[in-house]
Amino acid sequence: MGLRENRLLVQRCAGCRSWQFGPEWICHNCHSFDLTWTDVEPTGRIYSWERVWHPSHPALKQHGPYLALLVELPHAGGVRMVGNLQGDPRQTVIIGTEVGGVFEHHPESDPSFSLLQWRLKQGADRVDGHSTG
Ligand SMILES: [Zn+2]
Repeated sequence: MGLRENRLLVQRCAGCRSWQFGPEWICHNCHSFDLTWTDVEPTGRIYSWERVWHPSHPALKQHGPYLALLVELPHAGGVRMVGNLQGDPRQTVIIGTEVGGVFEHHPESDPSFSLLQWRLKQGADRVDGHSTG
């Protein structure tokens, strides 16, 4: 999927040029099998979100509640993908907020895996909590 190389790859149809968040075998738009993987800038907007209290992924169990986002990718035709929001899981999430992707690698796990998580682009004070003042 490219996450290990800090790449976000989104499926795009070579026939009709439409994007889709797969992986799928066939284009939903024109039913072509000619799908390609295209590098996409990992930035987007929060389309929807949910505070999750019971993580389904074992690697996330120690984190307690977390924020699951549905992120719309303007650089990929507006397709939406799911991911977690970094930072305070009890923060207020605003629909439409811009987020940037953060590649999180877990090479020590067996099997190793990589995740794409998200952090708020605006308001560094909310993300880092550091103040020089
Ligand atoms: Zn197509």
